[in-house]
Amino acid sequence: MSAKQSFSFEFFPTKTDAGHEKLMTVARQLAGYHPSFFSCTYGAGGSTRDRTLGTVLQLEREVNVPAAPHLSCVGDSKAELRALLAEYKAAGIKRIVALRGDLPSGMGMAVGELRYASDLVEFIREETADHFHVEVAAYPEMHPQARNFDHDVANFVRKAKAGANSAITQYFFNADSYFYFVERVRQQGVEIPIVPGIMPITNYSKLARFSDACGAEIPRWVRKQLEAYGDDVKSIQAFGEQVITEMCEKLLAGGAPGLHFYTLNQAEPSLAIWNNLKLSA
Ligand code: FAD
Repeated sequence: MSAKQSFSFEFFPTKTDAGHEKLMTVARQLAGYHPSFFSCTYGAGGSTRDRTLGTVLQLEREVNVPAAPHLSCVGDSKAELRALLAEYKAAGIKRIVALRGDLPSGMGMAVGELRYASDLVEFIREETADHFHVEVAAYPEMHPQARNFDHDVANFVRKAKAGANSAITQYFFNADSYFYFVERVRQQGVEIPIVPGIMPITNYSKLARFSDACGAEIPRWVRKQLEAYGDDVKSIQAFGEQVITEMCEKLLAGGAPGLHFYTLNQAEPSLAIWNNLKLSA
């Protein structure tokens, strides 16, 4: 692990007190590995506005790792975004993951005044200048709503030019898609770090559902093997750990500037990969 690399863990805010306690226990455990930051998602359309805020402030206060809220603009007015930014700034938060976001199904039309993540990045810069390190999302396998790959790369470049400092990718299972995306972005003269988002494989049916929705392709050979294991959770996890570890090794050897783990509020699956990679504690 070099000083320039970024290794981080993502959580989602929970609905119950028990879930929240578990999240904090996992965060304390992962803090011992000295990650660059923790991030906490923002429910579709701002549906977890208060819980994301509360979780991030508690992480920042009680766990000795910088905490970064995700913030999406599709369901929030400028006034709501301005108020949240002010609250985060006052609490000493230094990093934000800026997104367009998706609306929860059935919520209808977007209510936000900002249409795309690039508009949100611009807004954050207008409101708070350089206070925040701004992360944005990247899609090595293309955002599912993008017109085409070139257009999606152009839109990513727009986010960087609007003032993003670095990016985290949607998860993927094919290292080449990451390298190709990075190469295409670099050809446009954009040099911000693009950190691969890593999804440990623990449950095949959930993963298949998630991947369909977000446009991440599970390679046929991985899918077939996972299907063949049926209900054998241990074999699914062992195979998943091996596949993801090998992909991470390839990514880091090929110059990826770190890894961002989608923990789903569990420590073990991410730590198993972390330990296999011999990332230091
Ligand atoms: P954008 O970058 O705005 O792109 C959205 C789409 O619009 C793309 O197809 C893009 O090509 C297109 N586009 C962009 N700009 C323009 C333009 N000017 N003209 C025409 N088309 C344009 N969702 C949540 O709700 N909460 C979270 O906490 C959350 N965290 C995430 C974290 C990461 C690391 C990632 C990768 C995704 C996350 N998401 C989250 C999901 C994300 O909100 C969705 O993928 C959403 O559909 C797009 O958000 P974005 O910020 O990538 O949007």
